[in-house]
Amino acid sequence: MAKIIDGKDLAKKFREEVAAEAKTLTVKPHLAVILVGDDPASHTYVGMKEKACKAANVESTVHRLPAEATQDELMMLIDGLNSDRGVNGILVQMPLPSHLDQMAIFGAVKREKDVDGFHPTNIGLMNLGFAEALIPCTPAGIMEMLKSIDYPLKGKHVVVVGRSNVVGKPLSTLALLADATVTTCHRHTENLAHFTRQADVLIVAVGKVNLITADMVKPGAVVIDVGTNRVGDKLVGDVDYDAVATLASFITPVPGGVGPMTIALLLKNTVLAAKIQNG
Ligand code: NAP
Repeated sequence: MAKIIDGKDLAKKFREEVAAEAKTLTVKPHLAVILVGDDPASHTYVGMKEKACKAANVESTVHRLPAEATQDELMMLIDGLNSDRGVNGILVQMPLPSHLDQMAIFGAVKREKDVDGFHPTNIGLMNLGFAEALIPCTPAGIMEMLKSIDYPLKGKHVVVVGRSNVVGKPLSTLALLADATVTTCHRHTENLAHFTRQADVLIVAVGKVNLITADMVKPGAVVIDVGTNRVGDKLVGDVDYDAVATLASFITPVPGGVGPMTIALLLKNTVLAAKIQNG
C-alpha cells in the first residue's frame, strides 16, 4: 500500500518556515491579489490565500474588479501596483473572464513582483536555472513534496501528463533541471498508458476524473495527482486513488495533497519577491 504524501502537513511546516523568514525582514511582505468577476471558486481560493497570508506574517490586499472590467482597467490597476513600493507581490487570480487577454496580463506584472512565476522573464530564468527566478507555485510545491520523501529525481523517468503553462510545462522543466529523464504527455499523445507505465514518478495535471487507472501505473511508482475535479460536493483528482494506492510507493491525496502546497509556495514567493526588491 502506498504511503501518503500529506500536503496539508508539509504545507503547515512550510508556512511556519515562511512566517519565521518574513519576521526577519525589516518591512512586512505585502501581497496584492486581483480578483476579476464573480467566479465562486476564485472567491474561495482568494479567501484561502488571504487567510494563509495572515498566518504567515504577510500582509495582503484584495483588489476586486467587476466581470465586465476592460483590459485597460485591469492593466491600469496592475501598473499602479507595479509602481507601488509598498507592494511586493502581485497575483491575478485565474481564470479571467474570456474577453481579457491572459497572456498580456502575464507580461504586464513586473517580473520582480510576479509571485505566480508566469512572466516570460521568470520562465526564462527558471529554464536557465537561475536562483532568483520566481517559479510557478504548483510545480515548485510538487518539487518540495518529492524532496520531502527524499526521492532524488536524478536518472529517474518522470512522466508529466498535461502541458499547461501553469503546471505541466514548468514541472517538466524543473524535473529536467533535477536530472530526470522527462516525458510530457498531452491531449494528442497516442497510447497514453504506454508512457505512464514507464514512469518512476507519474505527475498528472489534466482535470479529468479517473484518467489514470491502476493498469496505467508501474508498481512502486510515485504518483502525484494535481487534478482537482468537483464531483457532486466532493473534490477528486485525476487518478483512480483507491486502486492506484494499492500498487504505488507514494501517492498524493485530493484534497490535502498538492493544493495546500501551492498556497505555501505562494507565500514563499512573496517573501522571495520582497527580498529581491530590497536587494
Ligand atoms: P489546463 O490548462 O486545462 O491543461 C490541461 C492539460 O491536460 C493540457 O495540456 C491538455 O492537453 C491535457 N489533457 C487534456 N486531456 C488529456 C488527455 N485525455 N490525455 C492527456 N492529456 C490531456 O489545466 P491546468 O491548469 O494545467 O490544471 C490541470 C488540473 O490541475 C486541473 O484539474 C486544475 O484544477 C488542477 N490544478 C490544481 C492545482 C492545485 O494547486 N491543486 C493548481 C493548478 C491546477 P493539450 O495541451 O493538448 O490541450
